[in-house]
Amino acid sequence: MDIIKKEKPELEKAELEEKNNPVTDNTENDSSGSGKSDYDILEDYDILPAVPVRGIVAFPKMVVHFDVLRPKSVNAVKQALKTNRKIFVISQRDVFAEDLKRDDLYRVGVVAEIRQVLRTPDDELRVLVEGIDKAELLTFTESETDDPYYEAYVEVISQPSYTKASKAEVEAMCRSIKKEFEKYAALLPRMTGELVKSILCQDDPEELFENIVFNANFQSADKQELLEKYDIMDRLTFLLAVLVKETEVLAIENDINSQVKENFGKNQRENILREQMRVISEQLGEEDEDEDYRTRILNLKLDEKITDKLLREVDRLRSLPESSQETFVIKNYLDTVLELPWNKESRIKVNIKKAEAVLEKDHFGLKKVKERVLESIAVNAIKPDVTGQIICLVGPPGVGKTSIGKSIARALGREYVRVSLGGVRDESDIRGHRKTYVGAMPGRIINAMIQAGTKNPLILFDEIDKMSNDFRGDPSAAMLEVLDSEQNKEFRDHYTEVPFDLSKVMFITTANTTQTIPAPLLDRMEIIEITSYTREEKFHIAKEHLIPKQLKKHGLKASQMKIEDDGIYRLIDSYTREAGVRTLERNIGSLCRKTAKEIVSENAKKLRFTADNISRYLGHEKYIKDVKSEKDEVGVVNGLAWTAAGGVLMPLEVLVLEGKGGVTLTGSLGDVMKESAGIAVSYTRSVAKKYGIDPKFVKNRDLHIHAPEGAVPKDGPSAGVTMTTAIVSALSGKKVRCDVAMTGEITLHGKVLPIGGLREKTMAAYKEGIKKVIIPAGNKPDMEDVEDVVKENVEFVFAENLETVLEHALVQ
Ligand code: ADP
Repeated sequence: MDIIKKEKPELEKAELEEKNNPVTDNTENDSSGSGKSDYDILEDYDILPAVPVRGIVAFPKMVVHFDVLRPKSVNAVKQALKTNRKIFVISQRDVFAEDLKRDDLYRVGVVAEIRQVLRTPDDELRVLVEGIDKAELLTFTESETDDPYYEAYVEVISQPSYTKASKAEVEAMCRSIKKEFEKYAALLPRMTGELVKSILCQDDPEELFENIVFNANFQSADKQELLEKYDIMDRLTFLLAVLVKETEVLAIENDINSQVKENFGKNQRENILREQMRVISEQLGEEDEDEDYRTRILNLKLDEKITDKLLREVDRLRSLPESSQETFVIKNYLDTVLELPWNKESRIKVNIKKAEAVLEKDHFGLKKVKERVLESIAVNAIKPDVTGQIICLVGPPGVGKTSIGKSIARALGREYVRVSLGGVRDESDIRGHRKTYVGAMPGRIINAMIQAGTKNPLILFDEIDKMSNDFRGDPSAAMLEVLDSEQNKEFRDHYTEVPFDLSKVMFITTANTTQTIPAPLLDRMEIIEITSYTREEKFHIAKEHLIPKQLKKHGLKASQMKIEDDGIYRLIDSYTREAGVRTLERNIGSLCRKTAKEIVSENAKKLRFTADNISRYLGHEKYIKDVKSEKDEVGVVNGLAWTAAGGVLMPLEVLVLEGKGGVTLTGSLGDVMKESAGIAVSYTRSVAKKYGIDPKFVKNRDLHIHAPEGAVPKDGPSAGVTMTTAIVSALSGKKVRCDVAMTGEITLHGKVLPIGGLREKTMAAYKEGIKKVIIPAGNKPDMEDVEDVVKENVEFVFAENLETVLEHALVQ
């Protein structure tokens, strides 16, 4: 039922009457308006077609619409339309009563005018009426026409214009009503703020009454009672009572509603929401994906806690829109975690014989290294949980540390993953970022495990000595945990959050030096040193390993490219200066590419590289052979130095000039070398007589000591013997043998102290065709490191002091 408050009832009523009832006697007799006396009975209304209604109470000035279904009511409307369009609208006491009698109806109704009639397809009518006058029902009958309709004999009751109450009483009542109405309206959502405001602004009691009654949602019995009261004070009093009652009922109703909602229970609500979400996802085709995650998680049969955590993520996924950023993050997360090799393992077969064969096949030489690696593997096989079984291969770049790691993996049947630690300075590099960070990722360990695809791979941590730490946390602390078999059973990455077992992983690390490896890490590792390669070794490595490897890599057959032996040596001598074979391998790769190009462009069917033609393909020689003096000379001595690229022959020159005892040093001489020079000069003074040197040389001679730039030696002090020999030779005029080379530190009293890098230094001497090498006597034990080929071809002199050195070096 729609109730429309009529704004200007009087005017519209007048207009309508004019339209529908053009000037009739009735209008003239109409005593409505101010001249109408109380309880006047309006003759023209006395017998009216009546329409009994259910649950609706119409008031004067109220516009109401309702459906008319009963034939007798339909006929009543039709009858009214034939005459003055007036009907008597009266409410039924009992909404279910059908065969209506007077007693089934209330006592008071409303004389209304039909404003609009709509006929429905079922021959029912929908009418819009406007209440005009309140009227009392006196008799209720049926018409005696062909189409009988309800007929009512009514007595119009006009509102009394006075009231028994005082003005103040009425006003007080109005205020109370407004207050109560405010409360009531607050509980009724359909009351708009505007409407409430306009009602509260009403000063006229009559209008206040109408406005509230027309808009409020009262029980029809209450409305009927309001209709039946005449005196304004009575009506207002009852209205207040109804408002109070309704407000209370509404409040209780609201309470019940919220309680019911609460009792509905969180679980139940969640279930319903989940179900709704499921249906929505199903319709969007997302269901499969969630289910897929769920089954994959359950199939892994992980620890209960991990499973729960992952399933929770899937649940979260369901609650998020498909295209949201968070969905993307969670899917990424789940994909990462599910990709981890939770249950996949390689079958490891520790067969030392086979491992040995693999290592032998992959690498030339490295006898000691292979032996120690095999020992380590054997111990690991017997007692896998022994700590400190982590091999750390230490040596210069390109000596095969990484490739040994790879071979070990192959020998043991483990997957191989290389993790470079160079430049890692942040804990999160190892352990990942929490997934709440934008663009978060797991750390290198978890990534390596994903890459490996099995729980028990071999992970090679390359350049563990190049890790640094800063304010973002120390990566070595995280590495400690990774490498510790006690702790790595439950390795936790910040991103994946769930613990992962690393205890079955075999770790191998590599480093260039042990000096920068943090002590606690170093403690856990077994250091295996790999020294630089000799020229011969490089030659063999190139011939037996690097060339076949590069040929294969470039898709060439052995018949298409050949590097002659002298070509290999040329590559080693003139195009590389390194401890390992990395640049050598790169140069061989270059030659392969040149060959491929020539073959493809059909310039040649095969290429053959020799010492003479290599420069045509690789450009000018990059390194000139160490300049060894070819004849015995005064003041020129072959020193031996050790550099990052291995051993080098480093001739040292001394020139004596007229002067005042000054010493000039030029060339690649570091501070330590300068100190050695000072000692050398002092020692020479002390033995001047013995070698026929004028002891006054410090007053009238200047010395110029020069070391050619060729290579920058790492160890300064070992040039002590070389420098002294050169100075003695220069001052005494005695020649130095050009086929002698030397190394050793000296003291002021002429003692020769041991030095490092003997193997590399002697190798360099041998390479240069030196016949005799003078080394400190203290280095005798290191002779076992010296290559056999060197020992066979070079004579060694073990010098305790400089006398011995000079004895062998100077031409007598
Ligand atoms: P590192 O890790 O020590 O820097 P790599 O393992 O990268 O060195 O070695 C560089 C290249 O030289 C690789 O191709 C490797 O196979 C090869 N290589 C190094 N040493 C040997 C060797 N003894 N026998 C065969 N190949 C070798």
